[in-house]
This record gives sequence, C-alpha cells and structure tokens, in this order.
Amino acid sequence: MMKWIRKSKTILAVLVAVSMGLAAACSNSETGGAVDATVTSIVSESSSAKDTVEETTSTATTKEETASEKTTKAETTTESTTESTAEETTTSESATESTTEETTPLESTTDETTASETTEEPTSSEETIMPSETADPSDSSEPENPEEKGLVVHFIDVDQGDASLIICDGEAMLIDGGASDKSELIYSYLEKYEITHLKYIVATHPDDDHIGGLAAALNIATVERAFCSVDEYDSRPFSSFQKYLNKQKVELEIPEAGMEFPLGGAVLTVLAPLTESESTNNNSIVIRLEYGKTSFLFTGDAEFEEENTILFSDQTLKSTVLKVGHHGSEYSTSEGFLNAVSPALAIISCGWDNAYGFPKQTVLDHLKERDVELYRTDMHGDILVYSDGETISVETEKETDGDVFVAPVIVAPTPGTDHECDYICNKNSRKFHYPDCEAVRKMKESNKLYFKGDRQELIDEGYSPCKICKP
Ligand SMILES: [Zn+2]
Ligand SMILES: [Zn+2]
Repeated sequence: MMKWIRKSKTILAVLVAVSMGLAAACSNSETGGAVDATVTSIVSESSSAKDTVEETTSTATTKEETASEKTTKAETTTESTTESTAEETTTSESATESTTEETTPLESTTDETTASETTEEPTSSEETIMPSETADPSDSSEPENPEEKGLVVHFIDVDQGDASLIICDGEAMLIDGGASDKSELIYSYLEKYEITHLKYIVATHPDDDHIGGLAAALNIATVERAFCSVDEYDSRPFSSFQKYLNKQKVELEIPEAGMEFPLGGAVLTVLAPLTESESTNNNSIVIRLEYGKTSFLFTGDAEFEEENTILFSDQTLKSTVLKVGHHGSEYSTSEGFLNAVSPALAIISCGWDNAYGFPKQTVLDHLKERDVELYRTDMHGDILVYSDGETISVETEKETDGDVFVAPVIVAPTPGTDHECDYICNKNSRKFHYPDCEAVRKMKESNKLYFKGDRQELIDEGYSPCKICKP
C-alpha cells in the first residue's frame, strides 16, 4: 500500500482538548491509522464537539454536511481510494484555471519586479488547490466574519515553504509567506479573507521559501511593523520585501528575544534568536503566541543549534500547538526540545513531493511516540487551527487516509538522481514507465512522479503500466 494518496478536497474538523490527557487517551487505538482513529474518537466522544465543528466549517461549500457524516467518511475512507484519486485529477485541473484568473489582480497592482516573480512558473500551481475553491465567495449565507472573535491560525499550504496567517479578535499578522512563486497564492489568500491590514509581518529568516511571498502580501495589505532576523541580505526576494516595505514607509526591525506584542487578546513573545549563528536557519525568529489557556510555537527553520539556545534560556516553551521546525528536517525538533514544548498538536509545513524528502521519519517517530496529533500541509492542504482560549479545533482543506506518521516514499528528483528511482509515473495519465522509456522524455517535468518501490504498489494506487516499455 502506497503511503500517500491525494484525495478530493473535503473538510475534516476535529476538536482537540487542550488537556494533554484526552489526546493521549484517544490515541491508544490499536489500528494502523493513528490519526484517523484519534479524530474519530474525539469527534464521537462529544456531541457538543459536533456543534463547534459545524461552526468552524462554515467556510466550506459543503457546510450542510454534518460532522457525523464527516466522521463516517474518516472511518470508511480506505474503500474509495481509487475513485477519489481519479477525482483529484479533475479538481487539480480546475484549480489551475482558477489560479490563472487569480493572477490578474496582483499583476495589475504590482510593478514589473513582483509581477514577473509571480508569473515565473505558471505550471507550478498545478498541485496547489486554490483556497478560494473551498469556499464560494458568492455564498452570502456565510457568516460575515467567523474569525471576528477568537483566534485562528492558518497554516497555508504553500508547497515547500512556510506561511502562517494569524487572526485574533479581528487583528491579523503574517509569519512568513512561502516562496516567490507562491506570491499570487498569498495575495489571493489574503484577498479571500479580506485582509487589507496586517498588524505585523514577520520573515522568520531571509530564505526564499519563507520571505518570497511577503512582497505580495504587502501589495494587498498595509502593515504596521515588520520584522526579520536580518535587515540586510543579498537576494532578490529580500530586496523585493524591503522595497515594498519602503513604499509603505515601514522600517524593517530585528526583534530581540523577550519582546512582547499584542494581537487582539493574544500575546506574542519573541523567544529567539538569542545568539548570532552562521546559518540563516539558526537565526530564525522564534515566536510563542499565547491566547487564553492555549499557545502556539512558531519555529521558522530553527535547527538543533538554535533549539538548544532556547532550551537553555529558561523561557516558557510549553505550547499546545507546535509548528515543527524546518519542515520536519532531521536536524530539527530534538527530543529535548520536543519534551519541553510538549505539544498536543503539531503542524508540518512542507511540499508534496519535495526534493528533500521532508518530513523525515525520525521526527515523525518522535511525534508519534509522544501521541502528538499531527497535520501536514502536504497531505491536508491548508490547515486552520481555531482557539477560543480554552479548546483547539482543526479544519483542513483536504482529508487524507494516508498515515501522517510515515515519511514520503515518492521523492522528487534532485539533480543526478533520476536513475535511482524504479519507475516514473505520469500524474495526469496515471501511467507508469521505466525511467528510460521514450514517453518519459516527452513528459512534462511537472507531471512526473519519481517512484522507488514495488510496481504492485503503483497498480494498487490505480496506475497502469506503459504499453511501450511494459514495466
Ligand atoms: Zn524553510
Ligand atoms: Zn531556511
């Protein structure tokens, strides 16, 4: 059985009790799909949970669907694998269409620099399901602004990268904005949620997969204060970010550990960087957000080095929700750090088929051993975590019946490794080939999936062998 299956977009909502006790109690299931089991037990345990679930899914087009229907889906998902994967092909096509439409507003409001950045890779959005598809903007029966009171953290699916939109009691901020080629996605995401003002914008560090889309955010929203781990950096995405801040006459600040900022009723505390590191990742701005009894830890791409400085700094680390460091890299999320944070819920932001093989199995194992409920943008799409100060609930753009605690088996090519895969699949035609098949040479790179493993796994997933190379 292949570990990842792309499914049609559905909304899955669960409630997680803030007390670790319930989460731990619920995940003692003997079944293989630990997360599904946890989801099911939590939802079925409380009928009041269902009410909240319905409230939180109000943005979904399928909001008539009851929570219990969704639960049933979660229980029976394994049966409809092939069908739903077939559906996915269609939905991703229409997603591409909507992406093309969405580019218009950004292009018309930007100058050549950002416009060209945002249109560099029109095909790259193929895999991205535009958030606007999850909700029909013309649906006037939607509550005016479900996020007005309370906290919602959007872990936006920006493929390989990070972007977290935080809205608390009507005030918004953005931590990272994905890579430059996700500019239009960031723009339309903010547009969809009618975010025209950001209290803060934070670039945890100047790597493109974090800072790239922030210029686009500044195209739709004004900002009060902007932070980055550095105020000078030699890269196009950084200068683009800087340029759009200048336009708004906002100075880029380097925050100091210990600084606190309010956002609605939430308080943000900067935990790091505490020392200057050689590596940009280990200079990541690390922020802890507290809202009532709930808390979130945003770690950027911090690795062991920075985690250790935080561990020894005697600051409060314990958090309900952890945005796992560096996309689930094996050099982040040490066991000591994880023990100190002790999250009930963790989010990994990484790209489907990313070239690094994120998230790594060791990190997934450490989370699973601690009964942490895990969501991944590569499997769940956009992940929305709600807090009323007491409890946390989660809404995802997509449902998955894959095991979130299993590292990817299909790894996108890094230069020179093409020959190391056993088969190359065409995501569109759903045929698989030997790597040297002539059909592979004609295949668009964006349609390729590099697969290492048994051919039966591909057949089980609905792929059929090529008639030319007969793999
Ligand atoms: Zn990164
Ligand atoms: Zn980085």
